[in-house]
Order: sequence, then C-alpha cells, then structure tokens
Amino acid sequence: MMKKIEHIGIAVSDIETSRKLFAKIFGKDSYKSEKVESEGVITSFFQIGESKIELVAATTEESIIFKYLEKWGEGMHHVAFTVEDIEQEITRLKREGIRLLNDVPKKGADNKIICFLHPEDTNGVLIELCQETF
Ligand code: ZN
Repeated sequence: MMKKIEHIGIAVSDIETSRKLFAKIFGKDSYKSEKVESEGVITSFFQIGESKIELVAATTEESIIFKYLEKWGEGMHHVAFTVEDIEQEITRLKREGIRLLNDVPKKGADNKIICFLHPEDTNGVLIELCQETF
C-alpha cells in the first residue's frame, strides 16, 4: 500500500549551485547530502514541514540522471511514495501490468530501498517507491 508522498525529486546539473539556490528559496539549508555510488548520483534533501524535496545530480556520464539532463534539462524529475512493503507493492503492480525499471529493490539515498515504475506505463510520470530501512 502506498502511504504518502515521501519526496519530490528535482534533477539539477550542479548540486552545490542548486543546493544554495533552494536554500534561498526555502529559507533553510538541506539537512543531508548523500552520494549513491551505484546510481552515479549525488543528492541533497530539504525538509519542508512534513514534505521533502530531493535534488539529484549526476556524478558520472554513465548516470541515468546525466542522460536525463542531456535530453530534458533541469526540473521536476520524479515523485516518490512511501510503501510499507516494497516487495508486496512490486508484486501488486506487476499483476496490474505496470512495468518496473528495476524488479529487485535497490539501495537508495536517505536509508531507503527503492524501485522505479516504468514511465511508459505511468503517463510519463516517473514514480519511485521507497521503503524505510533502519
Ligand atoms: Zn527520489
């Protein structure tokens, strides 16, 4: 079951420049920056009340974010939802005929295991599922 929006992801070219920009916009600094080596990305998280915003930039040219930025430029990238049991959710979605970009959940930033739904099956909206790990 999807419980709530966990965060909204914004693709940016330069993490430091954008971290400063969004700190100005939100009136507070990010609470965390984290590299996810396996994905070739660096992230910065902002807490805005109950909501989170994740800035995500590429650290290598092989990164999917690098390719995304080349094609689409900076901007809104994905919406992430908290799920209680990611395996159960993957099974449910597959049964509904929704494809996933990764069938096996992988380690994401901010103590999460994550997977992405195929945007061709979601009206072009990139949806991330997150399960908290402790
Ligand atoms: Zn995310």
